[in-house]
Amino acid sequence: MDLTQIIVTLSGLALIGLNLWFFFGKADKMKGASKGALYACPMHPWITSNDPTADCSICGMKLVNSEKA
Ligand SMILES: [Zn+2]
Repeated sequence: MDLTQIIVTLSGLALIGLNLWFFFGKADKMKGASKGALYACPMHPWITSNDPTADCSICGMKLVNSEKA
């Protein structure tokens, strides 16, 4: 095995590792978002928190449990 083959093999492995890390990192984030009570602003549903006492950072409204709907 010469140096070029080693470099190609290593960069291939690095790419696969990067893809796996990216994929599983994303999956973890999605899991975290769906577990437990999630509270969201009625006007700005993308503003979410697990804290029932939290307020919307845009309009200051109290966040409501988005799982009740
Ligand atoms: Zn809001």
